[in-house]
Amino acid sequence: MTSEERGSGGGASGRDRVRRLDPATVDRIAAGEVVTRPARVVGELIDNALDAGASRVDVAVDGDGTDRIRVADDGRGMSREDARIAVERHATSKLAPDGDPVGVDSLGFRGEALAAIAEAARVELVTSDGDAIGTRVVVDATASDIDSDDPTVTDAGRARGTTVVVEDLFATRPARRESLAGSAAEFARISSLVTDYALANPHVAFTLDHDGSRTLSTPGAGITEALLGAYDHETASRSTAIAASVEIATTGGASVPVDVSGALAYPSVTRSSRDHVRVSVNGRPVRNNRIAAAVRTGYGRLLPDGREPVAAVDVSLPPARVDPNVHPAKREVGLRDADAVADAVESVVADALTGADLRRKAEVDTGIEGELEPVGGDAGERPAPFADAEPIGTFRDLYLLVEAGDELLVIDGHAAHERVNYERLTRAFDGEAVPTAPLDPPATVSLAADEAAAAEAHVDALATLGFETVPFGGGTVRLRTVPAPFGRTADADAFRDALATLSGGESSRDARETLLADLACHPSLKRGDVGTLDAGELRTLLDRLGECDRPYACPHGRPTVLSVDEATFAAGFGRER
Ligand code: ADP
Ligand code: MG
Repeated sequence: MTSEERGSGGGASGRDRVRRLDPATVDRIAAGEVVTRPARVVGELIDNALDAGASRVDVAVDGDGTDRIRVADDGRGMSREDARIAVERHATSKLAPDGDPVGVDSLGFRGEALAAIAEAARVELVTSDGDAIGTRVVVDATASDIDSDDPTVTDAGRARGTTVVVEDLFATRPARRESLAGSAAEFARISSLVTDYALANPHVAFTLDHDGSRTLSTPGAGITEALLGAYDHETASRSTAIAASVEIATTGGASVPVDVSGALAYPSVTRSSRDHVRVSVNGRPVRNNRIAAAVRTGYGRLLPDGREPVAAVDVSLPPARVDPNVHPAKREVGLRDADAVADAVESVVADALTGADLRRKAEVDTGIEGELEPVGGDAGERPAPFADAEPIGTFRDLYLLVEAGDELLVIDGHAAHERVNYERLTRAFDGEAVPTAPLDPPATVSLAADEAAAAEAHVDALATLGFETVPFGGGTVRLRTVPAPFGRTADADAFRDALATLSGGESSRDARETLLADLACHPSLKRGDVGTLDAGELRTLLDRLGECDRPYACPHGRPTVLSVDEATFAAGFGRER
């Protein structure tokens, strides 16, 4: 690939919206090959469509994407002059010729994507800015003809917008072609990227076709609809939309607005990997572990162990606070206030989930073998959950049966009590050390070598959790105190668990939550206890649960409440209603 700039120094007439960058600016922009695989091409073309203000973007891919990629938009299109110059290296309409590319409020800004693609493929661009006659520009790097990379420009009919077709990608670069991962894998990357874009831009309609079949379609009608298109009914109906504006303090001391928007699936919808936490900055999908981790932390203990959430979170902040040039493919961005942004995201996520009704509902199912499928409730104001509910009995010594309007609630008595005790603990010792009981004489706990080393490394964190330790040598520690929040003492196992959590890289806050969740378990009602509660005690347990911040999940993330509505029974019994 040549780095020389065609037509350098001239040609950028004031009338043209697309201008050539001057060489100095070109040099300042992070170097890097833009086009390394088909998904990159798709990403660049979608960036351009969104930059052009498109309200719909249709993507079609054949095979692994090297055969053919087509991206059509209904954006503002280009004049003939702009279209001709757009495929030239370092032509862009997105900054002045001497402008500073950093912080430009658009997705593309380097003026090299189209040119780079045109150097590696046959590109046809058909565009119209609304004029009666549109423009077709063809650049064919795959032709043997020496002058073939001169664009041919002809008339074309098209409604306002732009269609770019890229064929025979890497035909002239067998090495690139060889390094691709195969059709299914390359398309999977494309599909995941288009999904990222669709969720990051929920007011733009997206479609994705593969070998002629539609694989994704979002209507551009908002985030819940986008989630429905990208996932399924279950995920969309068990999700809550977020839209919050937070002022954060910059390192310079000023304050800037950050908008956090998107959708969070309830904790009953999970995945085993973090791939479904989709992060975007100003509408552009990015990899940002910092923000992804903040989303995860915002879910906190609502998620079952080892499970990851499904969420799409867009962070909008003033372009000057973003440096998109840290990565040649623009898939990573530098945030100037990463800590403050991560904190903002975490609290927006945590608040949204606290407010959402996470009670799991049973879907109407007339089939006899249909299970009590938990599905989510609606987002909205936090309800006073069980005010109008009436306990009507117990089942199997463990479950409370509760009549609540036209729903029958089934509450796991142990899980419910555990949630209550956990919240009691966290509220009572908020920010304080957990009360301890002294052990006299100290208990000796034998540990593996690495555990012993970890116990020494985390001696302070363990002490705040209530475990005061003294190293004893020979792979043992002595426990001088143990946490005893309910007047009953934790044991050596609880100590080993806390140690494992800390040495597993979890923060001491996480370790504390884990410990409190474990401690909340011991004194909670077990199977057998629940059956002995009288009507008044059942009512009390229900009231306590209703007072919790997060009544619908136990501290380990499992549900506490299932519900079946009357329609389910009516359908099952074949009644009209
Ligand atoms: P950049 O996006 O960094 O400016 P590109 O090579 O991606 O560079 O595009 C060059 C120019 O072509 C853009 O600045 C824009 O003016 C124009 N352009 C490209 N794609 C489109 C499109 N889909 N709609 C309207 N204009 C476009
Ligand atoms: Mg671009």
